[in-house]
Amino acid sequence: MAVSITCNCGAVEITLDGEPLDQFFCHCSDCRASSGGAYSLAAVYPEDSVHLKRGALAGSIIRTMPRHHCAACGTQMTAEPGAGMIGIKADRLPPGSFRPAFHIHCASAVLPVIDALPHFADMPAQWGGSGKEVDWKDTAS
Ligand SMILES: [Zn+2]
Ligand SMILES: [Zn+2]
Repeated sequence: MAVSITCNCGAVEITLDGEPLDQFFCHCSDCRASSGGAYSLAAVYPEDSVHLKRGALAGSIIRTMPRHHCAACGTQMTAEPGAGMIGIKADRLPPGSFRPAFHIHCASAVLPVIDALPHFADMPAQWGGSGKEVDWKDTAS
């Protein structure tokens, strides 16, 4: 099912065909720097499923990851990890459509996020990571 996402000012609209390949939380320093948050929400699509419908995007590299934001309001919209994939900032998706499967780069997280998902120290083994998980404990209890 195609969905569309927009930036905060509405100038940029991006349509997404089909289902994402993966959805996850990323705790890496690059995502934290670009989002201004403790972690970011990502949905990865094949690049030919991602279409700029209107508006203008501007590119930037904050640390290592090429990214694109709305040229008018600055809302971060995409990240381009290469390998024919585009990461969408999943906080832009319609409510209820972000269904994360795991957390990545938990070893550099600023705080533990306690949930039932796998918490990979770096990345899953199928992405070339160690596949190791961190042992996050609920510090509130
Ligand atoms: Zn905008
Ligand atoms: Zn990241």
